[in-house]
Amino acid sequence: MSAIKELQERFAEIMRLHYISALLGWDQEVNMMNYKSLEGRSKQVALMQKLIHQRETSEEVGKLINQAKKENLSEIEGAMLREIEREYTLATKLPEKLVMEIAETSILAAKEWREARAKSDFSIFEKLLVKTVELQREKAEKLGTHPDLYSTLIDLYEPGATYDWIANIFNPIRPKLIDLVKKLNSSPDQPDGSIFEKSYDEDTQFELSRKVIEKLGFDFGYGRQDKVTHPFSTSLAALDVRITTRTTEPFPDCITSTIHEHGHAIYEMGISKELHDTILCNGTSMGIHESQSRMWENIVGRSKEFWMYWYPAFQKHFPENLKDVPLDEFHRAMNIVKPSFIRVNADEVTYGLHIILRFEIEKDLIEGKIQVKELPEIWNSKFEKLLGIVPPDDAKGVLQDVHWSMGSIGYFPSYFLGNLYAAQIYNKALQKLPSLPEDYKKGEFSTLLSYLKENIHQYGSIYRSSELINRVTGEDLNSNYFLKYIENKFIPIYRL
Ligand code: ZN
Repeated sequence: MSAIKELQERFAEIMRLHYISALLGWDQEVNMMNYKSLEGRSKQVALMQKLIHQRETSEEVGKLINQAKKENLSEIEGAMLREIEREYTLATKLPEKLVMEIAETSILAAKEWREARAKSDFSIFEKLLVKTVELQREKAEKLGTHPDLYSTLIDLYEPGATYDWIANIFNPIRPKLIDLVKKLNSSPDQPDGSIFEKSYDEDTQFELSRKVIEKLGFDFGYGRQDKVTHPFSTSLAALDVRITTRTTEPFPDCITSTIHEHGHAIYEMGISKELHDTILCNGTSMGIHESQSRMWENIVGRSKEFWMYWYPAFQKHFPENLKDVPLDEFHRAMNIVKPSFIRVNADEVTYGLHIILRFEIEKDLIEGKIQVKELPEIWNSKFEKLLGIVPPDDAKGVLQDVHWSMGSIGYFPSYFLGNLYAAQIYNKALQKLPSLPEDYKKGEFSTLLSYLKENIHQYGSIYRSSELINRVTGEDLNSNYFLKYIENKFIPIYRL
């Protein structure tokens, strides 16, 4: 057997171990939310990480990589070897003890975080966050992919990206977002969001969310949808994608967040069969992943044309709330731009500011320029500078996101990169398929899905994000598409 084939088989088993690990994570979120004891589970998760780590770092793998480099490889095999070598190189730099400690700590820290957030008491979470930051710092030092620690962590989620590259993209956008928010908020004709303060039956919301994503292309034969506190999507096999949703937030969060998770799921479902169970059977980066979820959620799912198709059904199910509300008013209400405290509920314009805040804090935190105990205060003062308001408590401030408890430092920038990638890719899709908005009016969403499958989904991680964006759009990531998109969308909504 050739070395690349043997590597492929070995990493197919590693993929399966990752899927089993993901099942533990899925179960923890969906079924174990209220369990007080996560001790046993944290040990199981750490054991899975140990098994994966042992396989990835075996001497045999190192030898096979060197042999495979001398073989005549196809394009796909070449990409596989690139990813396998990356995994091997990263894994061999990390001692097994550290890998297990990170896994175990993340489960316990997530539990403390949950309690801290429920009680809005940062001190409950502080000790384990200190430990988590130390572990991540140690991990970054050992990996040493880039000269600075934060870039090394960013690279794990957005391969090839660095702090400087992202700062060069985010910094010029920052004042433009702040200006646009001010301009929109000065309009004398503000949308009225009071229809979303009314009560919407939770079961009906859940049912409608299922109907919507089924129409968008989600195949329930290859996936499930469950209720959780914080929605996410995860793959338990190449064709077993689980998404989760919540019905407890003000309407239409259930619908928009379900469409978001569907965007992640449909990406994974669309990966070419040839790549199943290989190391390439993944979205290529978190930024590109977010571009898919955000395109469906925001560009499609908050468009007027989308609701021209769906609104009558929603009016029928919620007659008391929506019967007398014209579509135009509903559409404006779901696109209100207003500084708010919670990232996941933020509108398309202020969203980027929430990410820039985290991006700046993470950089200083990992480099030891700020201490964990200072976080609540620093969060609030930066928040006021960026969004002009101060969180009333830590639950609505520094404690709102699960990421740090899980050790995911360096992940946040992907979300905003996702918005930027989405606008650029969608601009191209519209050039090629100008009838897309007309299709949505008729409930036809397969044109867009086919385009995304053909140009992005099928490739899994064959192409890195920088190569992919060039292949799809003919240029590097360019934030002007996003800036143009938000101006063209929101200035008319605000009747300016
Ligand atoms: Zn997402």
